[in-house]
Amino acid sequence: MTAKISFFGAARNVTGSKYLLEAGGRRILVDCGMYQERRLKGRNWEPFPFDPKSLDAVVLTHAHLDHVGTLPRLAKGGFRGPVWCTPATAEIASIVLLDAGYIQEEDARRKKKRHKRQRRKGPHPVVPLYTVADAERSLELFRKIPYDEELDLGGGIRAVFRDAGHILGSSMVRLRIGGDSNPQTVLFSGDVGRWGKPILRDPTAFEEADVLVVESTYGLRLHDPEGSVADRLAEEVDTAFRKGGNVIIPSFAIERSHEIMYHFNELRLSGRLPGIRVYIDSPMAIRATEVFRDHPELFDEETAALVRSDRSPFRFPGLVMSRSTEDSKAVNRVKSGAIVVAGSGMCTGGRVKHHLVHNIEREECTVLFTGYQAGGTLGREILEGRSPVRILGRHFHVRARIAKVNGFSGHADRDELLRWVSAIDRPPKRIFVTHGEEEAALAFAGLLGERFDAEIAVPEYGETHEIGV
Ligand SMILES: [Zn+2]
Repeated sequence: MTAKISFFGAARNVTGSKYLLEAGGRRILVDCGMYQERRLKGRNWEPFPFDPKSLDAVVLTHAHLDHVGTLPRLAKGGFRGPVWCTPATAEIASIVLLDAGYIQEEDARRKKKRHKRQRRKGPHPVVPLYTVADAERSLELFRKIPYDEELDLGGGIRAVFRDAGHILGSSMVRLRIGGDSNPQTVLFSGDVGRWGKPILRDPTAFEEADVLVVESTYGLRLHDPEGSVADRLAEEVDTAFRKGGNVIIPSFAIERSHEIMYHFNELRLSGRLPGIRVYIDSPMAIRATEVFRDHPELFDEETAALVRSDRSPFRFPGLVMSRSTEDSKAVNRVKSGAIVVAGSGMCTGGRVKHHLVHNIEREECTVLFTGYQAGGTLGREILEGRSPVRILGRHFHVRARIAKVNGFSGHADRDELLRWVSAIDRPPKRIFVTHGEEEAALAFAGLLGERFDAEIAVPEYGETHEIGV
């Protein structure tokens, strides 16, 4: 029997994860991610390089858009399921995909309007990549499987999902192929998380992998020494509150917002910041918080102990969920003593723009970034010190303090990735390095080559490799 893997995304780039495993007469797609790099976005619109109807199943490592974002198109193309993933991944993916459908519809609407205004037509008719209704249909294909339970995918293929420590519900997926007579394991790393992060457990160490597909997002880099994230947050809050202002924290809705809640809860419990009011002003973050509350079994020991003793980071006095637009507007009127966590993380949309409008010209306030700001975003302009900046069609002079707290990354860095691969008891004979910029993937492959006696490849888009059983 032969087996092969084809790489249809995250191949010498970071996003669009899509790997097709063919073995035992079955065709299994691992992840179905959206491309997010500007230069590669066009691929989201192209027909899939395989017939969606020919797939027997999809397995998902986690719910980030670059791993699940084109599932609605797969369903539209005739794929009838199942999509296997952990319960928390299914619940977060539902939030992510419905939001993505909405954004696609909005983008198409805006583009149409622009074309009309400019009295021109684009080369193609303006339609959304997929709609909310498409996203809803794809969600019906989801099937849940908890960590560590073996799943029979037919054709002698069995899968096990294990905790990746990257976001809630994230997994590394080990597939056993070849049946009992000639077993071989193929291990997909998904996105490798980090050791000692709040809320989540550490990445799982595996006993064996004949073939390893490993990410390399930070294959070339080390994270800055973090210092204490909590100390930095407390310093910034003290500074703003002493001056009588607010702290505005643009944040990604899922995981980042929850880590911020975790730290503020700790600061509150330790007496460092007693009686704080933290407003979560992002419908997506609020929905995701429900998923966190529903899955205490996924927490690490420290967080589980907090929840057991009624000191949950996701439900504490002073934690306010701004559900409605009216709630959000009420927060706009608060002049001092408020910590506002709002989306989007790079200030490209969402409610954070309104909070910036109300606070960015006040020198007693602070805008506090906790994540990477991509070139061309409002967040990047503010972080780089530009003033005035354009928000919601008007210009604003930046007088607020602009600060950044490092240490929030959910991705293993170079040394942490090496640590994870080295922990595999029976080291792999074949390694495919994916999910990294070309330079990072090649450099990481080089490092692996120095340490392991394995055949190592950095596949390009569309490449197929026989892995033989
Ligand atoms: Zn991820």
